[in-house]
Amino acid sequence: MEITELMIRYGELSTKGKNKKIFIKKLNKNVTKKLKKYDQVKVSYNRDRMHVKLHGENAEPIISELNDIFGIQSFSPIVRVEKSVEEAEKAVIELIRKNYTPGMSFKINTRRSDHSFEYDTNDINRMLGTAVEDAMADIHVQMKNPTVTVRVEVRNRGIFISVDTIQGQGGLPVGSSGKGMLMLSGGIDSPVAGYLSMKRGMEIEAVHFHSPPYTSPQALKKAKDLTAKLSRFAGEIIFIEVPFTEIQEQIKKEVPDEYSMTITRRMMMRLTDEIRRKRNGLAIVNGESLGQVASQTLESMLAINAVTSTPVLRPLISTDKNDIIDIAKQIDTYELAVQPFEDCCTIFAPTRPKTKPKLQKVEDFEKAIDVNGLMDRALEGMKIEKIGIETDENKEREKNFADLL
Ligand code: ATP
Ligand code: MG
Repeated sequence: MEITELMIRYGELSTKGKNKKIFIKKLNKNVTKKLKKYDQVKVSYNRDRMHVKLHGENAEPIISELNDIFGIQSFSPIVRVEKSVEEAEKAVIELIRKNYTPGMSFKINTRRSDHSFEYDTNDINRMLGTAVEDAMADIHVQMKNPTVTVRVEVRNRGIFISVDTIQGQGGLPVGSSGKGMLMLSGGIDSPVAGYLSMKRGMEIEAVHFHSPPYTSPQALKKAKDLTAKLSRFAGEIIFIEVPFTEIQEQIKKEVPDEYSMTITRRMMMRLTDEIRRKRNGLAIVNGESLGQVASQTLESMLAINAVTSTPVLRPLISTDKNDIIDIAKQIDTYELAVQPFEDCCTIFAPTRPKTKPKLQKVEDFEKAIDVNGLMDRALEGMKIEKIGIETDENKEREKNFADLL
């Protein structure tokens, strides 16, 4: 039994009216890009389906690549067998076995473009249906809402068989909803926030603040590795590294301890917004979850958010930590995120940060620091790189890091 192609269904895209064309084009681009490394594979599409023809490539790795692409509702491996009813029976039985649950129902749906074939569609439906019922216990044919529909197509080149099986990620193709700047720390939450925003079609660029020598090269490397993990959903992600040492030192020196956290966050927000403006982003995304820590009360958010009118998206705002952890495990960022490398916020964290900062006071205390000068210098020191799972830079980084240890 040979899997010859994978047929992709768009799901939510189909309901997008006029935009549908743009969405499908974007999805086609994302799929093609992801599968570029498989020389033989050809991707084609029409308004209802996308087809990935394997031309001899092994299906397994390609199935796992498709699993990471947003905008795919589900997809079906299609199997080709010789033009014989016996071969078709064997394949159908094998496919249903893979999806078997006791008491399940099924339906065979045959189409025939090769009219010279000795049986017509009714004959084939009946023969294959009977073969399955004979081969398996506790299974029955059902025309309306069967558990599994087996599609059989008799063509000149053979009989093509598929079963609806693999659920895709759903969501919308990355890049179809515009670009946002993800504030990426080395923690559990922000990578998950990035994943969820990409899932709704956003292209993200990761902005990371670090404060050497207070923060270690490993902490920076961790943020880049998290970006690499996320890049499997996007192909590649721009990583923007912003030096934050001078800002933190000045805040530590000039601002009362209990207000330093709020003012630090305002600086991060201002810088991210300026980077967004320069790079034509439309929103800022962060990993805040209401009430999780001192900076994530509504009072804090109000005081921090006051520096910009850009939409600040918080995909995790009402998600419990345990549920965030579940997603982090699912997207394989959890193990990395819990590695104990201090980030800039932990090191400079005041012992008793204000959980209900007053905006007026914040603004008064902030006068003690040189907001514009600090911002200019941080932006000057900014470094930009592209991170993708299998890029050469990434391999080089891995190597350099190994040398560091
Ligand atoms: P995370 O798990 O994402 O680190 P957290 O629960 O630890 O989040 P905070 O440390 O209060 O929360 O940070 C809140 C949000 O601020 C983060 O989710 C992230 O979006 C942003 N942030 C914090 N530190 C940094 C940093 N060093 N660089 C960029 N963004 C940061
Ligand atoms: Mg954190």
